[in-house]
Amino acid sequence: MNHIFDSSFVLHVSSFMKKILFIEDEPALQKTLSSAFTSEGFEVIQALDGETGVRLARQKKPDLLLLDLILPKMDGFEVLRQLQADPETKSIPVVVLTNLEGMGEVQKVIELGARDYLVKTNYKLDELVAKVKTSLNL
Ligand SMILES: [Mg+2]
Repeated sequence: MNHIFDSSFVLHVSSFMKKILFIEDEPALQKTLSSAFTSEGFEVIQALDGETGVRLARQKKPDLLLLDLILPKMDGFEVLRQLQADPETKSIPVVVLTNLEGMGEVQKVIELGARDYLVKTNYKLDELVAKVKTSLNL
């Protein structure tokens, strides 16, 4: 009777435990996307500005960081720089979620260590959730 330990069960439990830190200053998007991830079994920690985001990344050690670029107090580029410079947070995978479509921005965030770059307007909600899961190898 050890069938409950099969791989799909383990996979389900581990995906249920995943913690996402979502740094986004647009309240509507913050709310919609957070509830989409919550209903998929993720724990979502919300930050509405860059400074709070860096502090929560250090405190909560999320499994993934979803990061906007245009943010109050500290922009997403600086958030990336600070997290990459800190051995405690540098291995957290970061997916950038923005409306900036310039190649300069894409190159800059990839150089700063981001794993993926998603333009908000290119995806529907469920596609965004799927993309983030792919980035997490789920
Ligand atoms: Mg913003």
